[in-house]
Amino acid sequence: MSASPFILGIDLGTTNSLVGVVDSGFPILLADESGSRITPSAVNYVADGQVLVGGAALRKRSLDPQRTVTSVKRLIGRRPGEGDWQPPYHLRQLGTTPVQVSAEILRRLKAIAERALEQPVSRAVITVPAYFNDAQRNATKQAGELAGLTVERIVSEPTAAALAYGLDKLGEHQKIAVYDLGGGTFDISILEMREGVFQVLSTAGDTQLGGDDIDRALAAHLAPAGTDPAVFLEVAEAAKKRLSSGETTRVELPFYDGKNSLSVELSRETFEKLIRPLIERTKSHCLRALSDAGLSPDQLDEVILVGGSTRIPLVRRFVAKLFGREPNISQNPDEAVAMGAVIQAGILSGSLRHVLLLDVTPLSLGIETFGGLMNIIIPRNSTIPCKAGEMFTNAVVGQKDMLIRVLQGERELAKDNWELGRIVVPFPPGPKGSARVGVQFTIDANGILQVLARDTATGQDTVLEIQNTAVDVDDERVEQMIAESVEHAFEDMNERVWTEAKLKAEELLPAVETALAQFGDAVSEDERGLIQASAADVQRLLVAEPHDANALKKATAVLDDATQELAVRLVERAVEESLSRRGIT
Ligand code: ADP
Ligand code: MG
Repeated sequence: MSASPFILGIDLGTTNSLVGVVDSGFPILLADESGSRITPSAVNYVADGQVLVGGAALRKRSLDPQRTVTSVKRLIGRRPGEGDWQPPYHLRQLGTTPVQVSAEILRRLKAIAERALEQPVSRAVITVPAYFNDAQRNATKQAGELAGLTVERIVSEPTAAALAYGLDKLGEHQKIAVYDLGGGTFDISILEMREGVFQVLSTAGDTQLGGDDIDRALAAHLAPAGTDPAVFLEVAEAAKKRLSSGETTRVELPFYDGKNSLSVELSRETFEKLIRPLIERTKSHCLRALSDAGLSPDQLDEVILVGGSTRIPLVRRFVAKLFGREPNISQNPDEAVAMGAVIQAGILSGSLRHVLLLDVTPLSLGIETFGGLMNIIIPRNSTIPCKAGEMFTNAVVGQKDMLIRVLQGERELAKDNWELGRIVVPFPPGPKGSARVGVQFTIDANGILQVLARDTATGQDTVLEIQNTAVDVDDERVEQMIAESVEHAFEDMNERVWTEAKLKAEELLPAVETALAQFGDAVSEDERGLIQASAADVQRLLVAEPHDANALKKATAVLDDATQELAVRLVERAVEESLSRRGIT
């Protein structure tokens, strides 16, 4: 069996787990048979030895709590008596361990992926909290192996999230806060990009604070006096989610005790008042993480939100106020960690060569050609890496070398674009068009432009390397360049037509003159008059001000036509002469 090229990216969460893969260059999350990309991290050991994982296990929780395990991540890799470790009494009763329960979840994620990809997959990248110690990381890895996965890498959750938000492109020494409020835990991490990788500067948090606490607070609020709030947990969570987008919602639970029904209107305002104390509890951890990193909020370059509970508008406002800036909300907070794991897996498998892969050239790249025109080799918006080339020749007799000016920009004339560098390619002098110089532009995945010029006669290469400038241009300059090219589009195009017509005219005039002088007898008096008049027209237009590009182009075409006859006869005569020289006629 040939090895699958896929490496899975897995977010093994306390509450929810996700799996994805890079497919055809795109990081995607995979859905199960019911279309869900989120699998609750719940396992139910059915009495007959069968194991249910995910939504099916969660539905069994209230009926069969003794055989249902949730939040096993809190226990994995922990030793008795360590931290918030609680004796997993029902795990022992079930004859299982945290590693085995985690393996059940991973086995389920692997199956979801294999079903979606229609092939077996055996390699994975798994994320863990930044604060996980060696024992916890190893236990997670062991769980992966038990599930039949080779764990290629264990990645920290905040690092994965930063990757998903594309923050690896911000550059060196950028500082990022990752605020992760999930189902049962709160984590705050401060990262810094150093030498192309994220370093975790500090982490803090509360392992007993998350969406579950919000659900419990709301259930307690909804439960009529004397009833068990646990009965209302499910409707509370659903109402909480609706209030992340709506201002009010109706909470209903018919015959919750077989007799009475619940039906109340709940406003976001009431909800926020209720949960504010919980959200406030994240503040001290954020301040602690900042002080451990030796930073003040204004020294951060980005604040990103991770975890399903950061969808709550109050959380977003709270974070904005605490950090003094709007958090980045460009990604789905409950999918960001998984997405980052997928991107990391894609980089490892080679299906995402570098995250820069999806970068494009912001402006066209080319070289100056004879007459001062811009000749585009790699057009603007080309996906990198890329490669393109063209062949050039000498425009003048006896030319000893060719100057290649590497240009960037959208203007028709070389002088209006930016010069990135230049190369001089020497070649033996010869007739016009005798030299052949191949010019090739290559932009690698890191955005480095390499210009190679080859004299095809000698095979001599001249190479120029241009760092990053080809890809890293600040947005403002790109916008300005494009605006200018649009603004000057008409005159630029006119100038290009003019230059091309001028080059043609300047090439044609001396040739016509020489031909008439040498072989004037080959044409009639009328023809000769027409040729001379056309040539005079071209001559006049060449010096006329202002330049009339179209008139020059037309006059040159007329001259070209008028000399067709002469040209044909010249060729005939040349052939005759050559044949007679060789004594054939
Ligand atoms: P974890 O990382 O802890 O496994 P998640 O990041 O998936 O968990 O977060 C799960 C939590 O997010 C749950 O408490 C869930 O109720 C909450 N959540 C999901 N969507 C929303 C929403 N739209 N509004 C508020 N909370 C939400
Ligand atoms: Mg999470």
